Amino acid sequence: MKIGLIADIHSNLPALTEVLADLAAEQVEAYLVLGDLVGYGPYPNECIEVLQKLPNAVIIVGNHDWAAIELEDISLFNAEARQAILWTRSVLNPGVKEYLGSLEYIISKDRYMLVHGSPRDPLDEYLVNVDIFEKNIPALKADICFIGHSHLPLYFSKQKDGGNPDVRPIKDQEVINLTPGTIHIINPGSVGQPRDRDARASYGIFDTEALAFTQKRKAYDVAAVQAKMTEQLLPKSLIDRLAEGI
Ligand code: ZN
Repeated sequence: MKIGLIADIHSNLPALTEVLADLAAEQVEAYLVLGDLVGYGPYPNECIEVLQKLPNAVIIVGNHDWAAIELEDISLFNAEARQAILWTRSVLNPGVKEYLGSLEYIISKDRYMLVHGSPRDPLDEYLVNVDIFEKNIPALKADICFIGHSHLPLYFSKQKDGGNPDVRPIKDQEVINLTPGTIHIINPGSVGQPRDRDARASYGIFDTEALAFTQKRKAYDVAAVQAKMTEQLLPKSLIDRLAEGI
């Protein structure tokens, strides 16, 4: 079965729409959504409505989702992220708030686990280097783990019989074989606010039979999202960064 992997949508409906259209064309039958459905962008309710209708979707929350429903302290957020969360709180429908509150922040199946930040700190830790990767190995509940949070497509691996840990960026169209006997942690990058200097939406496909991950990128109408953010008086730096992919 092919499963769509999407993370860090951040209320970006045009990006989400493009990604889901591509995943449907790829004949994906299920979806794993790795948190931060809202925050930063201008379409929080619309994105949740789309996600709620996805067939066979497993969805976990991220730190911005919890911040949007006042379960996470935003005093440590930067000023722009905080402003966007306050705006999000002011527009979220009650049903959407209830839905976000119902989601779990860590899910483990027999062959893989899902978490937004890191296995040992599911909502807040940025898993971005080998040192943090190694510290998280004891908290892994499966050999394959999918994460989000950093908005960077990254692949972490380590052979279980003692090989060296490794981390590297994942290129568009790259295929990673999730071979048994190795720990694999994959961040498919961000749908709604990529930060690897590529403005296109970033996501992936997990083929459970082939045991392979395929990285994908898709352009979307950045200008339309920027116009909507301007209309809603969201911070200029958040608007500008979408065009740069930073
Ligand atoms: Zn995020």
